[in-house]
Amino acid sequence: MRLARIATLLLLIIGLIGLVGSGCSGGGGLPKPSRNPTLTTDFDDAKLGAEAAEAMAQQMGIVDDPALLAYIESIGRRMLPFAPKRSFDYTFHIVNQSAPNAFALPGGYIYVSRGLLTLVNSEDELACVLGHEITHAAERHSASRQEYNARLNPLSVGFMRAGKLAAYGRNQESDADRGGQIIAAKAGWDPKGMATFMQDVDAMDRLTVGWSRLPGFFDSHPTSPSRSAASINRAENLKWTPRPNIAPNHHDFLNKLEGLTLGADPQEGIFEGSRFLHRDMDFTLLFPDGWELINKHDVVGAIEPLGRASIALRITGPGDDPKAMAHLFMESDLNIAGGRAGDQQELVIGSFPAYRIYVSGPEGRGFITFIAYKGFIYRIDVLASGGLARLFEGRGRAVARSFRALNEEEKALFKVTRLEVVESRGGESLADLSARTTNELDLPTTAVLNDLFINSVLRDGQWIKIGRAVRYSPSGEDEEREESQPADSLGPTSS
Ligand SMILES: [Zn+2]
Repeated sequence: MRLARIATLLLLIIGLIGLVGSGCSGGGGLPKPSRNPTLTTDFDDAKLGAEAAEAMAQQMGIVDDPALLAYIESIGRRMLPFAPKRSFDYTFHIVNQSAPNAFALPGGYIYVSRGLLTLVNSEDELACVLGHEITHAAERHSASRQEYNARLNPLSVGFMRAGKLAAYGRNQESDADRGGQIIAAKAGWDPKGMATFMQDVDAMDRLTVGWSRLPGFFDSHPTSPSRSAASINRAENLKWTPRPNIAPNHHDFLNKLEGLTLGADPQEGIFEGSRFLHRDMDFTLLFPDGWELINKHDVVGAIEPLGRASIALRITGPGDDPKAMAHLFMESDLNIAGGRAGDQQELVIGSFPAYRIYVSGPEGRGFITFIAYKGFIYRIDVLASGGLARLFEGRGRAVARSFRALNEEEKALFKVTRLEVVESRGGESLADLSARTTNELDLPTTAVLNDLFINSVLRDGQWIKIGRAVRYSPSGEDEEREESQPADSLGPTSS
């Protein structure tokens, strides 16, 4: 969950999720996807893509790095003349996801995750990935897929896992690999980048097995053992003339990635056990133990292990009158979601004014608590399916009651790991370099990010990506470098 500008916060007033809502985006300014979209023409693609792109930005967040984005765009645009002509224009975006991922929405919306950007090791790889996604969009692969509506309206399935998109078919994958390699090669990049990139993602994937793995590249783009081999073969058979890279050398390329966040982004808030803490907005909330915790850009919450209940916190907008906000909600979003309000009560949570309404809807019931805190109205939904509302009422109340400001110890928990590029000394091992530079990343992760082996011996003057821990401060305040500490291991954690 992230502190957004006030204008965007207003957009966050969205309808009831999951159990009560029936997929309605409510009065939040999110355009509602058409009921049964058929992607017949380029124009359908552009229209639906625009809707999905807005939902994507709201749900996952976009990384604001104009220099890096301009670089990505310049790579993408150099390939467009070689892609099938479409009436829509292409746009490029960096999505705030820690797992390596890339995807295309219809209408030429091309996304790469910050996790992917920390993983790529050459402009050739990046070009091939972008080429692959451009091909999905240009070939209109979405048009032949079913369940498109469900993909486009993530609210209809409650908490959709971040970045989880329906997978393309195997044939579409090989088409996109082939198309991506061809347009990358025509634009002057080495088509082998596709194969080396797939090996990188595969290595990263194997590292993160056993972690609560976030959906990544291979979830939206199903792989097969032959896929990587096929792209190696294809690369060897493609005729291409190298053109100068946009980043003149490897060091320039890596410099463009410097500063990217590795692992979880504390700007979205963090979990310590089942406690959620948000530094920018200065609050914390304790969810029930053992529930599945979810932290998305616009909502943070927990789902009961059997999926019978959910608790969700979001910011509805600026204000100091929880009752007024509750009434606004009843008149708009609740209505649209087909819900009805029952009992209502004024409360004080900590020392903050609050207002609670009990609600029932077609698929469940529960209560919603509005809390006024530091100029914003927070909203906590406790919803249960069937006749189970009473079973979860106590736990729901306890969660709402746990809302409070952060204490100093909690504020000190916030740190962020940023990508930094350092120069190796001749003969030093990766472990030596890690120790010398107080690299925050563990050795296997560092090796994968740099396309090296754990026991690699480095040459003099090699540029190596490491993770640098800095104390995290709310937006606008300067980050301080952490005092040197023994580097504890920190892989790419889920966000
Ligand atoms: Zn694909």
